[in-house]
Amino acid sequence: MKLYNTLTRKKEEFVPLEENKVKMYVCGPTVYDYIHIGNARPYVIFDTIRRYMEYKGYEVNYVQNFTDVDDKIIKRANEENVSAKDIADRFVNEAIKDADGLNVEPATKNPRVTEEMPYIIEMIETLVEKGFAYEVNGTVYFDTKSFAGYGKLSGKNIDDLEAGARIEIDREKKNPMDFVLWKPFKPGEPKWDSPWGDGRPGWHIECSVMAKRYLGDTIDIHAGGEDLIFPHHENEIAQSEAANGKPFSKYWLHNGFINVDNEKMSKSKGNFFTLREIAKVIPYDVIRFFILNGHYRSPINFSKDLMEAAGNGLDRIKNCVKDLSFIAVNGKDGDISESERKLIEECVKYKERFEESMDDDFNTADAVSSIFEFVKFANKNVNENSTKLFADAVLLKIVELCHILGIEPLKENKSSDDEEIELLIAERQEARKNKNWAEADRIRDEIAKRGIVIEDTSAGVRWSRK
Ligand code: AMP
Ligand code: ZN
Repeated sequence: MKLYNTLTRKKEEFVPLEENKVKMYVCGPTVYDYIHIGNARPYVIFDTIRRYMEYKGYEVNYVQNFTDVDDKIIKRANEENVSAKDIADRFVNEAIKDADGLNVEPATKNPRVTEEMPYIIEMIETLVEKGFAYEVNGTVYFDTKSFAGYGKLSGKNIDDLEAGARIEIDREKKNPMDFVLWKPFKPGEPKWDSPWGDGRPGWHIECSVMAKRYLGDTIDIHAGGEDLIFPHHENEIAQSEAANGKPFSKYWLHNGFINVDNEKMSKSKGNFFTLREIAKVIPYDVIRFFILNGHYRSPINFSKDLMEAAGNGLDRIKNCVKDLSFIAVNGKDGDISESERKLIEECVKYKERFEESMDDDFNTADAVSSIFEFVKFANKNVNENSTKLFADAVLLKIVELCHILGIEPLKENKSSDDEEIELLIAERQEARKNKNWAEADRIRDEIAKRGIVIEDTSAGVRWSRK
């Protein structure tokens, strides 16, 4: 299995630190709002890489943090007159709901900054003691000049960076590239007690601390979006390697960006979408499939047309799987025929092609193409004259490959308003029970407006999307 390592700028063979085990850390979202469509990409990509490694027999310890102390969280909390914790709790829950919609396997651990404070303080103390950090008026800075490897991930040279940096008004720092590990308390902000007075941590330190605590000093894979290479990941390396005296992560993986209609997504341009909004009109599995249709390191463009194309592609797989399921129940009884046995042997090549693509730096786009070829094979070779056993064998093989990508063609689509629809149906049942026909009709119309067809059967209400 080869992967592109940002640190060495090469595709390298994956060799785990410990046999059959993978220690993987993925930078997670800052929870001040619903996650946006761009955030969905690292969720889906690194989940797929994890699933593939699990399929290959590795035991993956997958840690993804939630940044739950941050200026944006505090700002929103002050606007809504609630605590920063209330905002963070709300959007951690919403992010987990979205990740679940995208069929992302739960992380082994989702640490949160506010729950790691003693360990954060401990690492900053180590950095100060070892001479890699210094305190000025309650702020602790990392001294970038003291760490020889600064710039090795991003390929940046510290002297060039400093020459390019604006002359800082902030005269506290020794060097312009020095960054904050601990900042002093300001009124209206959450605070923790520390050896440098009340305050809160800077952003970068949390990931160094959480990776160490839950995975160890040296990990196999560290991942995130490409915007994090500098300064976030560069700073993580400096902190971890300075504090622990050991290499931090062996491999660094970065996903490219999702742009919207070929432009960088931003709130001011009005092309900013939360995943929740999009999942109301496009099912989560189509969004996941759309993300997998591109190579994870290339930028991808989010547009209505490309989403429709992804939806059509996924339907092709689902229709094939539906047909195979039908024949697996209604086909011929008895043993697999000789010609069917030969055809089953042929199926191996799709799985091999799939694995070749995934072994080549997780080329999901090519892996999806081999599933389409497999679908073509199934559509051509499985029909009403096939045995149940043959249809079932082909079905299982296609579903297995889809499952590695986190695509479940046998399951119903999930949209973000499923829960609301279930609730409306329950309310309509209640109204009918109370013979409140006007209310029941009103709810039925409301449900119909959402494109939902309901069917009252003896086994209860069944619903589907038009
Ligand atoms: P944030 O909450 O901004 O720290 O982002 C959480 C994760 O989403 C990080 O790994 C980011 O690099 C990634 N990310 C943010 N915006 C995009 C985007 N437009 N496309 C792809 N990944 C993104
Ligand atoms: Zn991080």
